[in-house]
Amino acid sequence: MKKITLTKYPFQKGTQCHKALWLNYNNPELKTPPNEEQRMIMDKGTEVGIIARQLYSGGRDLSENDTVYGRELMEKTQAALKTDEQIFYEASFETLDRRMNCKVDIFVRSERNTRLIEVKSSTSIKTPDHILDLAFQYYVLKNSSYTGPPLQVYLVYLNKEYVRGVELDVDELFVMEDVTRRIIDAQVLIKNYLVQFESVLKSQQCPNNRVSEACFKPYPCAFYNHCWKDLPPITVFNLSRLRKSKATQLIEEGIVELTQIPSDMKLSVEQWVQVEATKKGSPSINHGEITKFLGTLNLDQPTFWMDFETYMSPIPEYQGTHPYQQICFQYCVLLSINGQIDRREFLAERGKDPRRAFIESLLEDTEGEGKIIVYNQAFEIARLRELAREFPELEGDIQNRIERIRDLLIPFAKKYYYHPLMKGSASIKAVLPVLVNSEELSYNNLSIKNGAMAMSLYEKFQQLELEKQIETRRALLEYCHLDCLGMIKVAEALQNLVNHKPK
Ligand code: SF4
Repeated sequence: MKKITLTKYPFQKGTQCHKALWLNYNNPELKTPPNEEQRMIMDKGTEVGIIARQLYSGGRDLSENDTVYGRELMEKTQAALKTDEQIFYEASFETLDRRMNCKVDIFVRSERNTRLIEVKSSTSIKTPDHILDLAFQYYVLKNSSYTGPPLQVYLVYLNKEYVRGVELDVDELFVMEDVTRRIIDAQVLIKNYLVQFESVLKSQQCPNNRVSEACFKPYPCAFYNHCWKDLPPITVFNLSRLRKSKATQLIEEGIVELTQIPSDMKLSVEQWVQVEATKKGSPSINHGEITKFLGTLNLDQPTFWMDFETYMSPIPEYQGTHPYQQICFQYCVLLSINGQIDRREFLAERGKDPRRAFIESLLEDTEGEGKIIVYNQAFEIARLRELAREFPELEGDIQNRIERIRDLLIPFAKKYYYHPLMKGSASIKAVLPVLVNSEELSYNNLSIKNGAMAMSLYEKFQQLELEKQIETRRALLEYCHLDCLGMIKVAEALQNLVNHKPK
């Protein structure tokens, strides 16, 4: 059997699912590479880690910007420990038997203690994942050749209460929590896991774990496409608002598809609509409720259709903002009057605080009395309320826009209309293709296909070549426009459904 070295990543995989651990060593080619959203999260984690080094500034990055790794990094760490330097970033250690190794975000030694510091880009400690992560590093250090002063273990994460001033205050931005006691207590878990993992990895056979909530938590599993490929396209995991733990239990009982759900199972009315439509293989349409809903939109009057794009940075970029604040950088507003559409839009220049320009332009473009239709009003209303707090002199006008908002999500969230191809989702990306079957209105034709891509490209905007910037700007405008135009077409499709109700 080939010699296996356990690092933090496969260890975490193993705590999530034994099959994931086994596949990681035996069939790594079955992994699906991270998507745009996952890459963005990883990049943000790296960015936070680098800023957090300022808590212990003046240290040496042993990885030299991630260009040194593996054995070379471990040897470099050993050499560095022979100097009288005290602070190292990315120091790497291995157990004496060379079977486990880890990298430490910030390693600080003094005469009294050795600090092992792990930086997380979250705004709280996620238990048990963060604790297990550090407990693994502690185990490696304790079983390595390191003989310095006693270990103290810290988790550093973002302070969600922090509001940025003119300058970034790194001491206020982060919370540093001493978790030494919890890490020592967790050593027994690490030992248990290591016994389990040894037997998993010794086996020639891939463990037979069934799909479960572990495929999604705490991180989406990279083997998802492999393990789910033979399952039906719609499973109990697609039943809207069903907890993943409940779906896991159903799978264990052999209930995989919605068609297998027993008639005495306790579900909400909306869930039953979904189950029944899936069993029949045809849409469920509540003409009465859709008619009532459309009546609230006053579509015979001038109507505004509005969509926002935002981005969130873990490190607040602008004065008065906090970690992960949603910053509005783009909107599209379509004003429909008697079948004519007037397109209005805003896309902020990257690098400047866009909030004031965004809200001033939006207020101008939504001036009037018509209803403002959005898709998922909780999002747009929350952003408008934040902007009202930030610019109190505009509060009255912002409140006027909030009161005019109507939510096109409602008929789909409440399952007044449900099509099995929506697979339990009420998002516009799920609704548009089933109600408006038009190539012209397909996200597939756009280079930006979802909000995460829009967010990621906007954030990277300044790093792009000029030509790519021009292309990205056009793509962002088209993406936001399609979200808005899609709403108009969806509302028209609903109107058609009630106009052509079977007698
Ligand atoms: S997709 Fe699910 S079953 Fe497959 S390896 Fe990952 S967690 Fe395990």
